[in-house]
This record gives sequence, C-alpha cells and structure tokens, in this order.
Amino acid sequence: MPEFCAISATSLPPCRANRNVVTGDMEHFDTLILGAGAAGMMCAAHAGHKNGKPGGGVLIVDHARAPGEKIRISGGGRCNFTNLHTDPAAFLSANPHFCKSALSRYTQWDFLDLVARHSIPWHEKTLGQLFCDHSAKDIIAMLLAEMSGANLWLKTAIRAVRHDGKLFTADLERDGTPVTVTARHLVLATGGKSIPKMGATGLAYTLARQFGVRLTDTRPGLVPLTFGDDVMARFRPLAGVAAPVRISAGGTSFDEAMLFTHRGLSGPAVLQASSYWHEGEAVLVDLSPGVSLFDTLRERRTTAGRKALATHLGDLLPARLAADLVAAHGLSGNLADCSDARLRQVADLLHGWELHPSGTEGYRTAEVTLGGIDTGDLDSRTMECRPCPGLFAIGEAVDVTGWLGGYNFQWAWSSGWAAGRAIAERA
Ligand SMILES: Cc1cc2nc3c(=O)[nH]c(=O)nc-3n(C[C@H](O)[C@H](O)[C@H](O)COP(=O)(O)OP(=O)(O)OC[C@H]3O[C@@H](n4cnc5c(N)ncnc54)[C@H](O)[C@@H]3O)c2cc1C
Repeated sequence: MPEFCAISATSLPPCRANRNVVTGDMEHFDTLILGAGAAGMMCAAHAGHKNGKPGGGVLIVDHARAPGEKIRISGGGRCNFTNLHTDPAAFLSANPHFCKSALSRYTQWDFLDLVARHSIPWHEKTLGQLFCDHSAKDIIAMLLAEMSGANLWLKTAIRAVRHDGKLFTADLERDGTPVTVTARHLVLATGGKSIPKMGATGLAYTLARQFGVRLTDTRPGLVPLTFGDDVMARFRPLAGVAAPVRISAGGTSFDEAMLFTHRGLSGPAVLQASSYWHEGEAVLVDLSPGVSLFDTLRERRTTAGRKALATHLGDLLPARLAADLVAAHGLSGNLADCSDARLRQVADLLHGWELHPSGTEGYRTAEVTLGGIDTGDLDSRTMECRPCPGLFAIGEAVDVTGWLGGYNFQWAWSSGWAAGRAIAERA
C-alpha cells in the first residue's frame, strides 16, 4: 500500500465518546471524511444528520494540528467567506455547467443565514465580497459547532485506503498509533496543491485515480505572474506601484488593481487573470480602463499644450509608472507638438500594453489549484464518483475553481453541503 503522508502526531485531540462500532483494533463509521478544511467541515455538519437532527457516525480526519487552517489565514485573517454575486459564470471548469446544481441548492444566502444564526458580524468590502468584522476564527468556530455530532481526529496521517466493493478501509496513524477504520462512505476533501507549507498534498488526486476516477490537468490559479530577467530589470524599480487597470487573459477581463512587486506582477487584477492565462500567451493591460486617453490628451492639448506629454502622463498614471513608460517608449516633447495620429499611438499603447509573462509563482503562493478531479466522473447533485459508488469528492480537489473574492469558499460550502445531504438522505 502506498505511503500517502507522514505528519507525526504528538498528542490526541479530544474526540467524541459516541464513536461507532469498535471491533478489535478496527473502528467502523458510516462516513469517513478526509480533510477538515472548509468543504470537509461543511460536509461533516450535514452527513451525520438523521431526520433533520445531528447524528453520529461521521469521522473527519486531518494531518494538521487545527481544522480549517486556510480559513484562518484567508482574507488577511478576516475570511472573505462568500460573494453576494456568486454565479456559475465566476467559476472555471472543463464543464462550466457542473457547478450549477450545488451552487443553486446551497447558495450564498444560505451561508449568510448560517452566519446570522451564529451572530457573526460581517461587512461587504467591495464587489460583493463579504468578510468577518472580527476574525476568520469565527467561521471556524461556527463550523465546529455545526459539526459537533461528528468525531474530529487531528494530527492523523492517512497511510492507505482500500475498498472491497462495499466498505472503505483506511489505515490511519493517530498519535503514532496505527488505527484502522472502515466506512460505508468516503469523502475526498483534502483540497488541492496550493501552499504545501500549509499542509496541501495531492492526496485527493492519488485516491481518486486509485478508485478509477479521472483527473484533469492541474495548475496554480490566483497566483502572481513572473517575467524574464530583461522585463524584471525594468519592473523591479517599480515595486510597490499600484494602478487600477483592466487586464485581459484568455478572453476574460477584470477591472481591479495591479501591483508591481520585486518578483513580477500581483494584485487582484493579476491574480484573477492568472487563472485564465496559459504559458506562452500574452496578457493585455489597459492602464486607463473606461476613460479614453486619446480624448483626454486631445482636450489637454487645447488647454495645457505647452506642458510635456510626460508631465500629462504623470498626472494620469502613477508617476513612477508614467516615467518608466515615457523612457521605454520615447514619449518626449510637448503635448502641443503631438498630432492626432501621435496621440492615438500613445493612447493605443497605454490602453493595450502587451505583456508576456514567463510563468507564475507556482503552488508556493497560489490561492487555488485549477483542474483536479474530473467532473465528468461526478454526479453534480451529490458529488458522488460514478466509477466508485460510496466515494465522494468536494471542494478544491474537484475541477471547479472560482474567481478571487469569496467564490472558492462558496464552492467549498455548496459542494460540501451537497455531499453531506446526499449521505444523510441515504443513511
Ligand atoms: C492564502 C489564501 C487565502 C485565501 N483566501 C480566500 C478567501 O478569502 N476567500 C475564498 O473564497 N477563498 C480563499 N482561498 C481559497 C480557499 O482557501 C480554498 O478554496 C478552500 O480552502 C478550499 O477548501 P477545501 O476544504 O476544498 O480545501 P482546504 O481548505 O485546503 O482543506 C483541505 C484539508 O485537507 C488537509 N489535508 C491535505 N492533505 C492531507 C493529507 N495527505 N492527509 C490529511 N489531511 C490532509 C489539509 O490539512 C486541510 O485541512 C484562499 C487560499 C489561500 C491559500
């Protein structure tokens, strides 16, 4: 059997006494959920319900020391937990229709109701993005309260999992002690590959493949873009400059801020575009989204034509960026001396600045993993894997990835809920 992971356990976390059947050193649960992140905890909150009430029979395991670590650090510690404008169009997948069922059955409004029931104060920051007023820990505490009927084993390594056609058997290592667990249902909720330092592994993919479920190619998403040495020599002095832009990649555009860093380009606009960008392609940056630079410069030529073009650009763009563009493209002379054709040239350059990233910062800093468990092998209503009945896949491990702005957590809640409900209904 393969060795999947090796995070050592040092002490036993508290767990419920009402564990299911214990036979020798084998323990039986109705449902075993691998991964106590956003999707796994949501699923645990619902999978054990019987007749609408929390029941037992659910075990959720994680190799981390605490549940929901990505929730804890998300949104600068305040967790952007959903988006008011959640819509299937904000998700990338080989099958863009797949996410519709779960997102429409457990919506952003359902999650907001839950947040309200737990009296968690929140606010909208921008673009429908909802954040906790106090701390992301409020969301984790809420999920733990909701899944109080389930058993939670932390610091638990998953050594091997097998299926005999009826039951799943998992060899676990808890506090250095091997434990074997059997379950009727197995839920893959170990997320994607982003930020290995935070405990991300490819376990869900390994297990999916083991049970005959197909995978789509994976790549980092919502990640800063990097550039070759020549471009970086130019960009590095601009580190810290931010500008509102419209950025386009792979046929999709975003109007948000772009930030120059010592390693390349970041900021919300760039993170969004990175999910649509493929190696070898260009990204187009409009440095004056929605405002015609040609019209603006022509008007200024009448009112303040004696000033240098560079001075005008310094007014219209961040000064350091304007100076860079002036130097790089030889934008010298007074505005009064610029013909309409010249102004058109300058405006076209700044509305359609073509950049050629050499790559991304990779999984080290990516907020999400694009691709993953092939939705073609999943039932969109239940998240059950067709090639292996009883096996479910939820959250980031699945080939459904949202935009920046609370969409990815909403997918975790919706898909976790869908699987949890389906399991509860058949219990
Ligand atoms: C820095 C950062 C900030 C983010 N901010 C936001 C935000 O504000 N809003 C938003 O919508 N999205 C945000 N995201 C994305 C969001 O965190 C993920 O989409 C979401 O957490 C996915 O939920 P999940 O349950 O599928 O996976 P995860 O939350 O990653 O949970 C997976 C769990 O499985 C465990 N695990 C993994 N491998 C193993 C293994 N081999 N053995 C045992 N356990 C294992 C992990 O420890 C983890 O607890 C952010 C991501 C990052 C990295």
